[in-house]
Amino acid sequence: MVISARTMSTNVHEIIARWLNFIQFWLFPSVCIVCKTAGQPDIDLCACCRSALPQTENPCPGCALPLPPGITPGSSYGACLSGRKVICRTFAPFTWEEPVCGLVSQFKYRHKFQNARVLCELLLEQLHEAYSAHELPELLIPVPLHASRLRERGFNQALMLARQLGKDLDLPVNTNLVRRVRHTPPQQGLGARERRRNLNGAFALWGPIPETVKSVAIIDDVCTTMTTVRTLAKLLHRHARQPLDAHVWALARA
Ligand SMILES: [Zn+2]
Ligand SMILES: [Zn+2]
Repeated sequence: MVISARTMSTNVHEIIARWLNFIQFWLFPSVCIVCKTAGQPDIDLCACCRSALPQTENPCPGCALPLPPGITPGSSYGACLSGRKVICRTFAPFTWEEPVCGLVSQFKYRHKFQNARVLCELLLEQLHEAYSAHELPELLIPVPLHASRLRERGFNQALMLARQLGKDLDLPVNTNLVRRVRHTPPQQGLGARERRRNLNGAFALWGPIPETVKSVAIIDDVCTTMTTVRTLAKLLHRHARQPLDAHVWALARA
């Protein structure tokens, strides 16, 4: 058997990576972010909490809400039948229930970045599977925060997620293309029409959409009514020089 130099170097890298993983696990053992007991070697979750995370069963590809019983998996439903032109696919694997909503809130308001890393790894698992036979979007666009909200929070949660997704999927993240130019009150408690009005003129394009880009993924932590991501997608569609596919990737769907 002939072993080429390249095979040998791959094997050496694999052995080194395995040892580094072992040392890392020994020095910093995995701890479940939900129950704080020992986590699994590959993720900071125990098997029990991992299987108990609230996942959306049979989600609508357009909006990630569960399809009503009797609707064929993978088919669009209701408003998504006409709305698919604005957003072609939405991935938000978890439902907005405990422990997911608590984990995301701790990430946003108490800087528990490990929660985001873990949930993002689970989102990535789903994305790898979903896009195994489809082309990935070419550019990731995190939902921007207004400058005053950014100062208050200290970081943009959507940008943090986009960076992790981009690194894993080898996709560029554009942080300057869209800006939030108007500070808007929180969307919570508003009806659909008020939400749309609230976001009127909230985003602005801050440069041209790269000419070669035909598909983008808008990244957010949680999609509540999709009003924010739809507003952003419409802005991108309006300014794109060619037809654009807008995907949405988020941790959870409320
Ligand atoms: Zn646990
Ligand atoms: Zn839908």
